[in-house]
Amino acid sequence: MNILNPTWWVKLLGLLPGELNPNEAGWLMLPQQHMPLMSNRRAQMILNRVRLFAILFAVLTPLWMIVDLLLLPNPLAWQLALLRLLSTGCFVFIVYCYRPEVSLLNAWRGMAMLFAVPTLFYVVSYVLLTHYHLTGASAAVGTGYAFLPFVMLAGFSIFPLTLLESATFAAPILISHVLAGYFQFPVVDWPSFWGAFWLQCLIAGVAALAGVCQLAFMIALVQQAVRDPLTGTFSRRSGEEVLELQFILASRSGSPFTIAFMDLDSFKSVNDQFGHQQGDVMLQQFARMLTQGLRKGDVLVRWGGEEFLLLLPNTDCRQALHALQRLRRHGFGMRPDQTPLTASIGLADMLEEGCDDWRHLVEIADRRMYHAKQQGRNRVVSSQ
Ligand code: GH3
Ligand code: MG
Ligand code: MG
Repeated sequence: MNILNPTWWVKLLGLLPGELNPNEAGWLMLPQQHMPLMSNRRAQMILNRVRLFAILFAVLTPLWMIVDLLLLPNPLAWQLALLRLLSTGCFVFIVYCYRPEVSLLNAWRGMAMLFAVPTLFYVVSYVLLTHYHLTGASAAVGTGYAFLPFVMLAGFSIFPLTLLESATFAAPILISHVLAGYFQFPVVDWPSFWGAFWLQCLIAGVAALAGVCQLAFMIALVQQAVRDPLTGTFSRRSGEEVLELQFILASRSGSPFTIAFMDLDSFKSVNDQFGHQQGDVMLQQFARMLTQGLRKGDVLVRWGGEEFLLLLPNTDCRQALHALQRLRRHGFGMRPDQTPLTASIGLADMLEEGCDDWRHLVEIADRRMYHAKQQGRNRVVSSQ
């Protein structure tokens, strides 16, 4: 059974009309399936929110010292003040010093740092507080410390997270609550302890739902923004972004990366003979036929009018030639006069050309596409 696509999940997604297709449901559960462009935007958003949260904590954490010093006995008040100063230092570090390269791994790191500080603060303050029997106003202040995990769990709702990520980040906080109870043993009041734990689980669940809804909304927005409205392929602007990302990834890992510049043959005559609308239908048909034959991870970009760029990661020139032969056999659709629609294609392999800039790679592929036109159209030209 495919756990990513059970019926109940598809039904639930019916509640998000226009935001996600059922076959994209897995995107809400696991982060691995997101396209690189989406991961990058999400990472940027998470990092910005980590900073926002850190600023808020950096201001609020030392402010509460005044209440502690006024109402709690010594040396507890000073111990907690020291703890607060240390935590504030960590938050200030996150705000000013943590400016990493935008990647999902760094975004997770930022979140882990951000939430590790109050989690540790909570465990240490809890242990300190167990040594005192507080009464009256000081008891109320002491109880306030027990609310910290609730605040942290609710805080997850401002991040666009998958269910797996929400569960992974909430787990240490829930575990720290159980640990705090363990340290208090045997004086802990078990019914209220488990009541609080249950409430924390509920808040974690609601925050996870909020995170998933944010993620669904973000995916829908990114998809709308990156797609060319006519063909549904990547638009030129977002295509350049994906190309740059894939180029960097391939350069770093040393894996092959090939691009194909495709220009439809004698396309103007379709417009001239059958009208612009028929031309539009042909473009849609071409994109659909091509996309059907692509591997997962391959990306089709509408580079200009009837020019498309096909990005083939982890593919060298020889493999790309094979793939294009297969795609050409499959066909690109028919013209209104029932003759096959054809394209002239130029291939460029990053490793083979020794390119260190994706623009240069596109230039080479474009030049080869022109050679294909000169040689009589409907063919692929590569270095081989
Ligand atoms: P070849 O590339 O084989 O040399 O011939 P061609 O007729 O395709 O040449 P050219 O690049 O000069 O023509 C491109 C045509 O594509 C011109 C323009 O009318 C048409 N075109 C560009 N964008 C669109 C579009 O969005 N819709 C339609 N219907 N036509 C478009
Ligand atoms: Mg053209
Ligand atoms: Mg053309």
